Amino acid sequence: MDVGGTKVAAGVVDGAGTVLASVRRPTPGHSASEVADTIAAVVAELSADYEVKAVGIGAASWIDADRSRVLFAPNLAWRDEPLRDEVSGRVGLPVVVENDANAMAWAEYRFGAGRGRRDLVCLTVGTGIGSGIVLGGELYRGAFGIGAETGHMRMVPDGHLCGCGNRGCWEQYASGRALVRAARQIAATDPSAAASMLEACGGDAERLTGPDVTEAARKGDAAAIRCLTEIGHWLGEGMATLTAVLDPDRFVIGGGVSDSGDLLLGPARERFAQTVPGRAHRPPAEVVIAELGSQAGLVGAADLARI
Ligand SMILES: [Zn+2]
Repeated sequence: MDVGGTKVAAGVVDGAGTVLASVRRPTPGHSASEVADTIAAVVAELSADYEVKAVGIGAASWIDADRSRVLFAPNLAWRDEPLRDEVSGRVGLPVVVENDANAMAWAEYRFGAGRGRRDLVCLTVGTGIGSGIVLGGELYRGAFGIGAETGHMRMVPDGHLCGCGNRGCWEQYASGRALVRAARQIAATDPSAAASMLEACGGDAERLTGPDVTEAARKGDAAAIRCLTEIGHWLGEGMATLTAVLDPDRFVIGGGVSDSGDLLLGPARERFAQTVPGRAHRPPAEVVIAELGSQAGLVGAADLARI
C-alpha cells in the first residue's frame, strides 16, 4: 500500500517486485481507523484472486522505531496513530508500516536504479524532497525510526520558511515548489522572458505548475531552463553535503521534477562535482534517474513486509 494525503494505492507484488494487480481508492477521513477500514477492504478485494501473505504500508508520515505507529503525518492529520495494529486486527496478516520515501528507496535498491549498490541515497523531488538512505544494504531508519529527512537539512540561514517550522530547509530550494517560485519570479519581473511558460497556464502566473515549467524547458525556453538549472544546482549542493557524511556510491533521483531528466540532473551533477568535499581525491558518486516511477512506494512497502 502507498497511503498518501489523497489516495490509497495498493498492489499485489511478487518476490521480483512485479505488480501483479493494483487498486486505487481515495484516502478517507482523517483517522487511522478509517484508513484501516479502506486498507482492509482493498486487501479483501485483492485476496480474492491472489494469496496475500503480508501487508506493507508506505505512508507519507513519520513512523516509530517499531514500524507500527504513525507519529505524525502532515497531510493526513495523524498524530500517534496505531496504524499497524488497526490494520492487522482487521486483515489477520502481518503488517509493516514504513515512511513512503523510505519504501521508495528500498524499492529502487532492490529492483530499480539502485540495484547492486549497497550505499545509496534516493531523493524524491516532488512538491518537497522525500528521501531514503540505504547503507551497507540496509534501510537506514535512525534510532527513533524517523531518519533520512534530508529535505529538512538547513541550507540557508534565515531562508524561506518551511512547513516543518524552520527556515532555509533544502526542500525550499530544490523541489517543485522552488521551481514554481523561480518561474513566478521571472513572470513578475520579466513577463516577456516568461511568455512561453505563461502560455501553458493561460497567462496566469498563479496557476503555473512545475510540469508547465518542465514542458517549456523541453521546448527550449531559456527562462524555464534557467529555473530548472537553479533547482538542479541546489540539488547538487545538498548532495555534496550528504556525500560529506554518507559517501554513497549512487544518488537515485525520482519524483515529479525528475521528469525533466538531464535538464535537472545536468546542473545537479555539475554543482555536485564543483562542491563535493575533497573532489580531486575521491571517486565520484553517480547521479541517476529512478526507474520505478509512481509504483516505487508500494513495491518497496511490499518487499519490506516480506523480509
Ligand atoms: Zn523543513
